Amino acid sequence: MRLPHPSARIVAAIVCVLLMPILMGAKRPPGLGDVKDVRSWSYDDYTRVVVELTRPVETEVKRLKADAKSGRPDRLYLDLSGIWVGKDFENGIPIQDGLLKTLRLGQNTLTKSRLVIDLQRYERHRMLVLRSPHRIVVDVYGPRTGEAAVLPEGSNGTKPNSRLSIPLRRIQTVVIDPGHGGKDPGAIGVGGLREKDVNLRLAKMLGTRLEALGFEVVFTRKSDKTLSLEERTVTAEAARGDIFVSVHANASTRKATRGIEIYSLDENHERHSLDVAARENGVRRSEVDSLQRAMAKLHVHEASEHSVRLANAVHDSLMPGLRKNYSGVPDLGVKKGPFYVLFLSSMPAILLESGFLTNKHDARLLRSKAYLEAMADHVATGLGDYRRQGDQLFSSRSAQ
Ligand SMILES: [Zn+2]
Repeated sequence: MRLPHPSARIVAAIVCVLLMPILMGAKRPPGLGDVKDVRSWSYDDYTRVVVELTRPVETEVKRLKADAKSGRPDRLYLDLSGIWVGKDFENGIPIQDGLLKTLRLGQNTLTKSRLVIDLQRYERHRMLVLRSPHRIVVDVYGPRTGEAAVLPEGSNGTKPNSRLSIPLRRIQTVVIDPGHGGKDPGAIGVGGLREKDVNLRLAKMLGTRLEALGFEVVFTRKSDKTLSLEERTVTAEAARGDIFVSVHANASTRKATRGIEIYSLDENHERHSLDVAARENGVRRSEVDSLQRAMAKLHVHEASEHSVRLANAVHDSLMPGLRKNYSGVPDLGVKKGPFYVLFLSSMPAILLESGFLTNKHDARLLRSKAYLEAMADHVATGLGDYRRQGDQLFSSRSAQ
């Protein structure tokens, strides 16, 4: 390899120096996308940063550790190729939540923007690229400044504390997430039956049943409105939910397909799960891959084991209960699949597919109030069973 001639280095240095003022007052090259919005949410264990863009980008998060000599603070950064931000965010966005200091977003080159996340504390991070609208989600985890990094000892479990690991937490609050809504109707079934309406109806009935069992219930939506995935999980996290239940209804190109499925989150999947995940994620089948890759790189979900237990508890109550009065409903079992909404929530989470809107028998049942009420009843009983199992785990651990 030939080293560049010294004059080439000088030229490069001059170009660099020249580039700075050019960039500062730079004219925007044609054909670039924009940053539409930058949002952040601070939770107990992590801060979520979302950058909304007008076009998709491929990127990765890099870390620059603090350097005492130069006084450089600890930071994460990621480059957004083909994105113009100009000077819109040149003053930075202060966060100061004990985990992140500031977000800075600037034009790094004429055709590339850079997001810098200045850190106060850091343990790990994860990133997810979503679409409709295009956005990048970065979750930064760590103990906040001034807080103990270890779990509090001898907690009696009477107050919700999401710093406690999941099995040590008394289950009180259920977040019910009726899938789709507003501009997104979800699947459309026999006779024009819309998934978003069925989901909301069933979700509300489930809420009533759960309250009767002494749970606190929080809904991600209670009306026909459009919600992003982050908005759904923002509600869940803000409410310090212990369980997340996403309520959906299925569709298939095979009209004969019917039955009930319950999903927990997993990077692995069966063939059919991939179709369901693509539809529920609102992406093409091929795009589910990127989520699976993201999940495979991270430790799968702290809550994963509990999500499987949760899915089984609901399944074991729902199917036999329902079949007492509706003997023909097929049990399609407990499955695993890569679902964004489950991935983005930090609590044990399941996704219920209440039946196939595209099947005439299922569609008839899903229109029936009595059927939905029976379903809500047995799902609620299943969640009650899960809470009891948790209580037993809790008391056996406390006794140790
Ligand atoms: Zn759905």
